[in-house]
Amino acid sequence: MALKIYNTLTRKKQIFKPISKEQVTMYNCGPTVYWYQHIGNLKAYIFADLLRRTLEFEGYKVKQVINVTDVGHLTSDADEGEDKMEKAAKKEGKTAQEIAKYYFSLFLQDLAKLNIELPNIWCKATEHISEQIELIKRLEKNGFTYRTSDGIYYDTSKFKNYGKLARLNIEGLEAGKRIDMREKRNPTDFALWKFSSSQEGKRQQEWDSPWGVGFPGWHIECSAMSMKYLGETIDIHTGGADHIPIHHTNEIAQSEAATGKKFVNYWMHEEFLTFKGEKVSKSKGGLFTISELEEKGFSPLVYRYFLLNGSYRKQIDFSLDILENIKNSYTRLKNICQNLVDDGQINEKYLKEFKKAMEDDLNTPKALAVLWELVRDEKAKGKYQTVKKMDEVFGLKLLEKEILEIPEEVNKLAEQRAEAKKQKNYKLADELREKVNKLGFLINDTKEGYEIKKQ
Ligand code: AMP
Ligand code: ZN
Repeated sequence: MALKIYNTLTRKKQIFKPISKEQVTMYNCGPTVYWYQHIGNLKAYIFADLLRRTLEFEGYKVKQVINVTDVGHLTSDADEGEDKMEKAAKKEGKTAQEIAKYYFSLFLQDLAKLNIELPNIWCKATEHISEQIELIKRLEKNGFTYRTSDGIYYDTSKFKNYGKLARLNIEGLEAGKRIDMREKRNPTDFALWKFSSSQEGKRQQEWDSPWGVGFPGWHIECSAMSMKYLGETIDIHTGGADHIPIHHTNEIAQSEAATGKKFVNYWMHEEFLTFKGEKVSKSKGGLFTISELEEKGFSPLVYRYFLLNGSYRKQIDFSLDILENIKNSYTRLKNICQNLVDDGQINEKYLKEFKKAMEDDLNTPKALAVLWELVRDEKAKGKYQTVKKMDEVFGLKLLEKEILEIPEEVNKLAEQRAEAKKQKNYKLADELREKVNKLGFLINDTKEGYEIKKQ
């Protein structure tokens, strides 16, 4: 058996063969930290985490890098409009760096809640300006750049096979030319460096460069940082499916034109989380954040479980009703797992089935079905250790005992009820129990007194 993954580049499931047996190199396109990450954005990182866990389950060591975009991502993908970071800074009356720091810290909290393990390296675009300038210089030397009044652009007509990842119809684009070309030579050309003078008002973040004061285009950071930390050719690069036609297409053009080598062997893309059938993005709004789900009574791991019930390569529609059902199923599964007794054995038959499912391009719905089958199989041995192994991949904390946090209010009411009972005021005691129930907790009387449980 061998791990097979779907490669966007070849549109095929392929057996995964890493460049080096020692270590797999993986780059995941990261967040633009100008606003809250919604649960759609977070899907991208749950996928990356699942992939890394699967590779580790397969026995590989993984070096994982995630970038943090804190400059250069403009409101339009056509290199126009305002810088998202600068716009947010203006709106919130803060510096761009304060905005980046704040939303990045919220993002990290969400990752922890979703049991997403941290990458080996986080890299911020603003901390790698010189690497980006060096790369643009290489592209300039190799004859791929030209200057316009607002910046330095990449001439996509010079790069053979431009658009091969997305299977773009370049002739169609040329003929249509619906895009406002401004001074661009080809509709698909994109900015490598933008001059500050191209933007309205004074920018907060700008740097000196051989071409003039300005800031890097959005795509160049990923090429520069991927090469710096992982080498000129890497094993796996991931992102949302929206990145295929522009961002990743441009990353390939930049990197391969600079090095003359293949940039990435396996491109993997997760499909969008939709809301009422519509694709949603941060700029359009419409999807919840993890904190909002928590306020509605959903643990973040219920959301993780929800995604694992679908394929990462298919769009999945989100609704609170579906999540409610998923919550029941997750709670049932967790309850069963909590009561498993460790007999020190592994159930090889079920583990093999599980491995087979995961090796089939991370078929998590199938792998979860195997887990359910195992826990329901009355005769099966080794349930505890096998679930433990499976959960190293799922990351659902199935065996971790819940530490129940009881709100102060509930504790007080329970104390008052105990006191009322002592005074034989049963009516008041019942009323107090009722109040505790309304807050989502139960009181069970025990020999020693009482215990509080979550409903
Ligand atoms: P951003 O912070 O906007 O740069 O996006 C971060 C990541 O989330 C990117 O890899 C996007 O492709 C991905 N993404 C954005 N919206 C969704 C969505 N609704 N479902 C799944 N992934 C998404
Ligand atoms: Zn990227």
